[in-house]
Amino acid sequence: MQISKQNLEEYQDKIYDVIVVGGGMGGLSAGIYLQRYNLSSLIIDKGKARSFWMQELHNYLGLPSDTPGRNLLKQGKDHYLSVDGDLLNGYVEEVIDEGETFAVRVKVGRNQSLYPTFRAKYIVAASGIIDNLVPLDDMKNVYEYAGYNLHVCMVCDGYEMTDKRAGLFVGSENSIKMAFGLSWFTPKITIFTHGLFEVSDEMRSKVAKMGYRIIETPIAEFLGENHQMNGVKLVDGTVVPLDTGLISMGSHYHNTYLTSLNLEMQGQNLVTDKVGRTSHPRVFAIGDLKVGLNQVAIAVGDGALAATNIWKEIRQKTGPRPWVENLEAVAS
Ligand SMILES: Cc1cc2nc3c(=O)[nH]c(=O)nc-3n(C[C@H](O)[C@H](O)[C@H](O)COP(=O)(O)OP(=O)(O)OC[C@H]3O[C@@H](n4cnc5c(N)ncnc54)[C@H](O)[C@@H]3O)c2cc1C
Repeated sequence: MQISKQNLEEYQDKIYDVIVVGGGMGGLSAGIYLQRYNLSSLIIDKGKARSFWMQELHNYLGLPSDTPGRNLLKQGKDHYLSVDGDLLNGYVEEVIDEGETFAVRVKVGRNQSLYPTFRAKYIVAASGIIDNLVPLDDMKNVYEYAGYNLHVCMVCDGYEMTDKRAGLFVGSENSIKMAFGLSWFTPKITIFTHGLFEVSDEMRSKVAKMGYRIIETPIAEFLGENHQMNGVKLVDGTVVPLDTGLISMGSHYHNTYLTSLNLEMQGQNLVTDKVGRTSHPRVFAIGDLKVGLNQVAIAVGDGALAATNIWKEIRQKTGPRPWVENLEAVAS
């Protein structure tokens, strides 16, 4: 059921088996599995998943390689609702461990917001990350091309960049190392620092040895048409022609609502075991938020693993279900 401001109250006394934070690739996969195990689940999603910005999913078995992420999200939500999952558009602000249950505090609606609390025995953290983009004064200019031929994921889109003139847009010296990996696909690399940091002499020399260029003058705007970036204009007016680009400026991690649980982290990623369990036995983390490869196929698989292990645990605690009528018939 799609929950809204109007019917929120009906759901607040309920104790769900699982609350899934995030309705992207991992969260929807977990939700569909949970519902199909006849468990009760609530997915809370603030929208605009990383997968929403994915204009073309290139490497997922069975789908045409130009499938937009938003199509998968729509289909996934419909699928989840069709197996009686509960879905709420809202922002999870905090998860509090109450012992047997977790209290999940949510902000619903930007205007005249409501702050309901929902409860569950298990939490699946599927809230993902979002990529930092080149910080221009006019961010609309960046959104025009980001996710099209201005990529954010080399694993996803390196293939599309093969032997093209590529801009690598970095936010730190460490990200410059990405050039050496990107060279597997194309060696025609120009690194743009946007004047954000000083490049060390050691790094300059490593880059120069490979024939790559470094441009430190800040970028004024990306150039192109029909979402196809074909170069950048620098603040001094210079135009640098390009065929494609890769932004490697780090990410924002959607994990603040978990702070009070003190989960084990590696950097900003949650550490989990093979089935997605974090350092808290009833909190699972899946998809981009956990340590691992940031891919749709992985997030979808993570959802299946976490849901199945939660089901196994609940099933074992509940024990086998007797065929009561048969027992009664035998007894009489
Ligand atoms: C431009 C682009 C292209 C890509 N191309 C590919 C590709 O070709 N192949 C591939 O395999 N992968 C690709 N990816 C990566 C892929 O999108 C991610 O790996 C995948 O979406 C991760 O799924 P997830 O469920 O972990 O996170 P997401 O799909 O990002 O879902 C997380 C959801 O949680 C929500 N959320 C966050 N915080 C909260 C909160 N506090 N309360 C409620 N909800 C919250 C978010 O809004 C979002 O809806 C691409 C990514 C981008 C950006």
